[in-house]
Amino acid sequence: MRIEKCYFCSTNVYPGHGSAFVRNDAKVFRFCTSKCHKNFKMKRNPRKVRWTKAFRKAAGKEMTIDSTIDFEKRRNVPVRYDRELVQTTVKAMKRVGEIKARRERAFYKNRMAASREKQRAHRKKMLEQAKSSVTLHEPLAVEEAESINESKKIKLTVNSKHKSALVPGEGRSMGMDID
Ligand SMILES: [Zn+2]
Repeated sequence: MRIEKCYFCSTNVYPGHGSAFVRNDAKVFRFCTSKCHKNFKMKRNPRKVRWTKAFRKAAGKEMTIDSTIDFEKRRNVPVRYDRELVQTTVKAMKRVGEIKARRERAFYKNRMAASREKQRAHRKKMLEQAKSSVTLHEPLAVEEAESINESKKIKLTVNSKHKSALVPGEGRSMGMDID
């Protein structure tokens, strides 16, 4: 039993899930969802579609060079069943998974740190541009007073009407007006 990778987005395709397309030259394309299958039928290149693993790897958003990735490789040499070997392999898989997760987190942190610096510089630049082109005015005090009066008026009108939500209305309306 093998966990296949989706041809388009590279997520795991477990046995009994997704769909497969076999081209007339016997190459098998596996898809995790109809979304990926449809994108394939539209002849899209997974490297150019932003949400795929292929794009993320090509754009340097994902860890690509690491020793933990090399474990997950297709091996075509059959191995004789050995209870001991299976046990050690399962143990190793867990440990490798832990190490991989930690390295991925470190990679992400590094990447974000670099982008944060970039963003900060961009924001500073934008602020300076805004400062030079726009002159800021203090809001007038008179306007503020008016807006307060208006909000009071609205409050009063609401209070004068009594609505009861407890009385179940006939038909569509749930609340009734009692005046
Ligand atoms: Zn997919």
